[in-house]
Amino acid sequence: MNKAFSLSALLLTFCILAGSTFSQPLPEPGDPENPSDIPEFYKSRLSDIEAELELLQKGKVERIAYSAGGLPLYAIFYGEKEDLNSQANYNSAVAARNPAFFAEKTSDTKPVVYFIGPVHGQEGEGISGLVNLLHIAETGSDYRGREWPELQAFFAEFRVIIVPSGNPDGRRRNPYDTFKGLPEEIMTKYGQGTQQDGTLWRWPGAKSLHPMKGDVGILGAYFNDNGINIMHDDFFDPMAAETKAIMQLAKEEAPDLSVSLHSCSCTPFVIQNSHAPLFMKKRIADFAQQLNQAFIAGDLPHRPENWGLSLEDDDPEFPPRASFNLVSALHHASGTMSFTFESPHGTLEDGTSYEELLDIQLVLYREIFSYIRDNRLIWEK
Ligand SMILES: [Zn+2]
Repeated sequence: MNKAFSLSALLLTFCILAGSTFSQPLPEPGDPENPSDIPEFYKSRLSDIEAELELLQKGKVERIAYSAGGLPLYAIFYGEKEDLNSQANYNSAVAARNPAFFAEKTSDTKPVVYFIGPVHGQEGEGISGLVNLLHIAETGSDYRGREWPELQAFFAEFRVIIVPSGNPDGRRRNPYDTFKGLPEEIMTKYGQGTQQDGTLWRWPGAKSLHPMKGDVGILGAYFNDNGINIMHDDFFDPMAAETKAIMQLAKEEAPDLSVSLHSCSCTPFVIQNSHAPLFMKKRIADFAQQLNQAFIAGDLPHRPENWGLSLEDDDPEFPPRASFNLVSALHHASGTMSFTFESPHGTLEDGTSYEELLDIQLVLYREIFSYIRDNRLIWEK
C-alpha cells in the first residue's frame, strides 16, 4: 500500500464514519429547507447528544445497543442502583401476590424514573428536552441559562435513567431539526414516510405495513433503518435491538415511572396506557390531570381545564382499537407506571414557540419527579 493510497483510505474511512453518525439528508426539491433560525438552546440533533455526553461529570453513560443502522443507543444513569433483591420475574411475582418478589421498594430506597427519548425520529422535542435535563442535572441550568433548582435537587433523591434518543436511525434520516414554523404536512411526509408513488403513509396508515418494507419511497423517521417502529415492535419476540435494550433496562431497574416521549401537531397531553390494569390507569389519569394543571399554571399550551383520560380498556363501539404497545409492554415486564407523552412540534398549525417547547418538556419532567415523590408504590415482603 503506498502512502497516497493509505491517506485517501484514511480520509474515506473518516468520511464514512463521520457521515454515518451525523450526515443528514436534504429535503426533496420543492419542500421547505431545514429551518436555519433554530435557537442555540434547542438541542434536537444527535450531535447535541454526543456533545452533552462529553460534558458529563456526574452522570454515567453506557452504550446499551447499536441500532439497525449501526448507531449507538445511549443510556445515562444518575444515582446508585439499589439492590432490588429480585427472586422472580414481574408477572410471576404478581401471581405470588407480591411484586416485591420481583423488586423490593421500601420507603428507604431511591425511587427510579426512566425517560425514554423519542422512538420516532421526527419528534426531536424530547431530545432537546432531555439534553437540557442532562445539563440541569450537571450544572443546575438549562441551555437558556435558566436555573431549575427543584429539578436538579431531584437527582439527589432519585435514580434517574435517560435514553436521549430511542431511535437514532430515524433521527439521522430526518432532514429537519425541527418542524417549528413548518406545515404539519411536511412533518407527516418525513415522519411517517411515503409510498413509492409519493403518496403519504400518514398516521395511522404508517402502522398498516410493519416492518415498513416494500412500497416505500421515503422511509419515515418513525422507523429504524430496518423498518421497525419501536413503539409497535413484537414485544414477545422483538425485531429491533433498540426495543430489546429499552425493555431490558426496565426489567433490570424496575422503574417507578417510565415515560415515552413523543410529539404531534397538537397541544401537549398524556396518552393513557390502554393495556395497563385499572389501578395503574387511575394513577396515569391522576398524573395527566396534575400535569395539565401545571401547564395551565405555567401559562403553557394545555388541554381544557376539565380534560381527563378514559379508564376504558378499548373502544366500546369498535374493539379492538387500543394496541399493546411499548408502554404496555414496559408495564407488564416491570410493573412500571408507563405512559406516552405527546408534545407539540411548533408546526404552523399548533403554533408553539421554541421557549414553550422546552418549558413543556421541563415542566413534564418536574411533575414526574414530584408525582412519584408524593405517590410512590411501596413494595415490601
Ligand atoms: Zn411518536
